[in-house]
Amino acid sequence: MLQAARQGGAGVLGSLLTHWQGHAPREIVLCECGQRMTSQGRRAKGLLTTLGAVPFRRSFYQCEQCRQSRFPDDERLDIVNTTYSPGVRRLMARAGSQTQFEQAAQDLLCYAGLHIEPREIERVAEDVGRQVEQWLSEQQEQIVQAGLSVPPQLKPGAKFYISFDGTGVPVRKSELVGRKGKQADGSARTREVKLGCVFTQLGLDKEGHPQRDPDSTTYVGAIESSTLFGWRMYAEALRRGLGQAQTVVVLTDGQRYNRTITQTHFPGAVHIVDLFHAYEHLTLMAQILWGPQAESPKAWRTLLEAGDIKRLVAKAGKDLPSSPKAKKSLCKELGYFENNASCMHYAEYREKDFFVGSGVVEAGCRTVIGERLKQSGMHWSVRGANAIIALRCCIMSGRFEDFWAAHTR
Ligand SMILES: [Zn+2]
Repeated sequence: MLQAARQGGAGVLGSLLTHWQGHAPREIVLCECGQRMTSQGRRAKGLLTTLGAVPFRRSFYQCEQCRQSRFPDDERLDIVNTTYSPGVRRLMARAGSQTQFEQAAQDLLCYAGLHIEPREIERVAEDVGRQVEQWLSEQQEQIVQAGLSVPPQLKPGAKFYISFDGTGVPVRKSELVGRKGKQADGSARTREVKLGCVFTQLGLDKEGHPQRDPDSTTYVGAIESSTLFGWRMYAEALRRGLGQAQTVVVLTDGQRYNRTITQTHFPGAVHIVDLFHAYEHLTLMAQILWGPQAESPKAWRTLLEAGDIKRLVAKAGKDLPSSPKAKKSLCKELGYFENNASCMHYAEYREKDFFVGSGVVEAGCRTVIGERLKQSGMHWSVRGANAIIALRCCIMSGRFEDFWAAHTR
């Protein structure tokens, strides 16, 4: 019955299209060169809609001067250079962003009765992803240049969090030329995606832990330089209400570029370095001093939690190891604490009920990036990965329908 209903629907749609073409006002069709184009009759085109294949013949116009051609009906229906209707492209993009393209093809067959090749889903999903990226970057530019026309309403007393982190995505060899990596021979297999998120916190849960506002998390991300990413993060924060936020917190894992972005774009924010990364660095220091089984002394952790980095560094660096290599490693670790000392006032943060961990963005790296882009056997092009990342960030920020609404307008 469902199949019959779809076929009937496709038939009705076909008649509607013919009727629409017959009653459309005859407009003058101009060429890019300014010449008036002349009608050359109709040309058939395969058109796949969510109801199935629909027969479609549309007027073909050509410029006699420069031989360029146009299909005005295709332009009005948003099907220029494609045989998939916008509704089908939306399904292909969503399916291809959620799972591997072969799986996506099976999903579309099962859920929507559409037979589509995996490589077509790949092509269209990446195409739509690039349109999403375009839409986002136009908005980004507008927001940064002119501000928002309607600023979002933050709940009174909400704490505003900005958090970002990097995660490696496996890419093709050609994307790695001249890049240093973490492999034993110094080569690289991955490129770093920078992922950022914005969320708000109103209060504490029953156990007294800071609690995120449900559905308040939005994501941005790309394989790009930290400078470009800084602007992307900044625009997203503005869009979410940075301008009216009373308390702004930046949560990172303490890499150097984290501080640059924070100082450049969020100078008024409280910058917190993830406490759990800091614990790991304590363990590393203990291992350098006392061997691979060592754990960090309780006294160090107490000093760290109190935010007394000066005494922590003095204590841990009291007796430097004699081997030059170990000495160098330990000094590097001490440097991490010295450089990030201003972001480690954990006692104070706890008193103010702030989050002190970057768990939200780390979970984002797994769900937004890892689950789709880091499966075994995958080798992405940077262009393809960025398109799928844009799609996933858009969907997981609850903005995919906004994109289609804007696109259709
Ligand atoms: Zn022309």
